[in-house]
Amino acid sequence: MNTENGSKGLSVKKNENFSQWYTEIVQKAELADLRYKVKGFLVFQPWSVLAMEKMYDHLEKVLQKKGHNPYFFPTVIPESNLKKESEHVEGFSPEVFWITEAGGKKLEERLALRPTSETAFYQMFNKWIRSYKDLPFKTYQRANVFRYETKATRPFLRSREFYWIETHCAFATQEEAELQIKEDMKTTQEVLHDIFGLPFLFFERPAWDRFPGAERTFAADVLNPDGRVIQQPSTHLLSRAFSKGFHVLFTDKDGKEKYAFLTCYGPAISRIFASVVSVHGDDKGLRFPWTIAPLHVIIVPVQNDRTVMKKIEELKKRIEMFASVDIDVSDKSPGEKFNYWEMKGVPVRIDFGRNELKKRELTVFRRDLNKKEIVKENKIIKYLHKVARESGLHLTEQADALFKGKIKQVKILHEIEKVIRDGGIARCSFCSLGKEGTRCAERIEKEIGARVRGKKLEKEKPFSACVVCGKKAQNVVYIAKDY
Ligand SMILES: [Zn+2]
Repeated sequence: MNTENGSKGLSVKKNENFSQWYTEIVQKAELADLRYKVKGFLVFQPWSVLAMEKMYDHLEKVLQKKGHNPYFFPTVIPESNLKKESEHVEGFSPEVFWITEAGGKKLEERLALRPTSETAFYQMFNKWIRSYKDLPFKTYQRANVFRYETKATRPFLRSREFYWIETHCAFATQEEAELQIKEDMKTTQEVLHDIFGLPFLFFERPAWDRFPGAERTFAADVLNPDGRVIQQPSTHLLSRAFSKGFHVLFTDKDGKEKYAFLTCYGPAISRIFASVVSVHGDDKGLRFPWTIAPLHVIIVPVQNDRTVMKKIEELKKRIEMFASVDIDVSDKSPGEKFNYWEMKGVPVRIDFGRNELKKRELTVFRRDLNKKEIVKENKIIKYLHKVARESGLHLTEQADALFKGKIKQVKILHEIEKVIRDGGIARCSFCSLGKEGTRCAERIEKEIGARVRGKKLEKEKPFSACVVCGKKAQNVVYIAKDY
């Protein structure tokens, strides 16, 4: 393994200069190479790809268990499809990459590189769904999508090509579609929080911030250490706008033809990976929950003599039965190796030399606690089982505690500013998330540089008048800075 980048530590502390910390960790932990020659596109390196592959696995398993079937759709979408839902085309047009030529000839119809695939899936739903017996119809695909971002790009967080899963479902009734939205939220909790260890809040977005073409939009916000929120999975109640555009019709039990109710859900794996890096990483580098770590155990030989190496090989064979494990045989010093693997976030490092050989015990470093422990050689598998169980929980608990402390209740407009400046999320009473509230939201954006992220799905009772205009408040909203 090429280790030239990782041997030097991070030059800044995460909480002092997050932006620099993030830039450095992407490079030094060898997550992505930004030297690709097209602006906004980058090369994902093995260390990030291995983790993201596992993240895909977890999410896909849960989706399949909940009745979604996998598809691979074409990357290209004809322009006429995109135009079938007017809000959708209006929302996405500025971000679309178009193919206008192929085989040296101009195409009769332009092809979009999919920015999202509603208009690909639903033209096929039109052919596949006939009767109420075909419903619910639940699909998903793992795919890369393309969006011409005009805001500054950042590796994993925002680039012009990213990797995600999109689910598309059709139902006979609005109620079933609403239940799907709740299921999507639960899936997010089960995977993003319980497996990846990421705390978030799920909000219903205000009217002015909906997915183009959706009746209602719900999205999870993860808080970054720099006090900005990142939108993670969003789920959309599309209702019948798209099924009318694409004639997704079914014959109901009463013999009548009806439009299906559609939903879609989009967890972006590469962006969720950015949150895993940002939330769990520390001043030494990455930290991974066991379940998504690219490598579980690294063994560092303290001396390089034959008896030590022989024992290490034996140890590797035993560990392999339970966890992924590698030996660092590079010619760096043990100290350099320690730093390197801490940077890489490997959950367990075993330092092994003559001393350990003689005592029949192992010196083990746990990355979740940044702590060395001595383990009897014959207890190592049992010990690794324990770390596998505990380390993800530790990271999750640390992240949850930090997140909870960042949400502050505010009744006065100018106090929002302080909460935001301290890297928090302000919880406020607000007049309306319909169009009437636009002006108050704009004032927050203009004066504080933060945005109204939305309200929780479960009803929360306002505790004051609207924090901006002083009129009667209908909702409790959350206000934060975003990217
Ligand atoms: Zn107001």
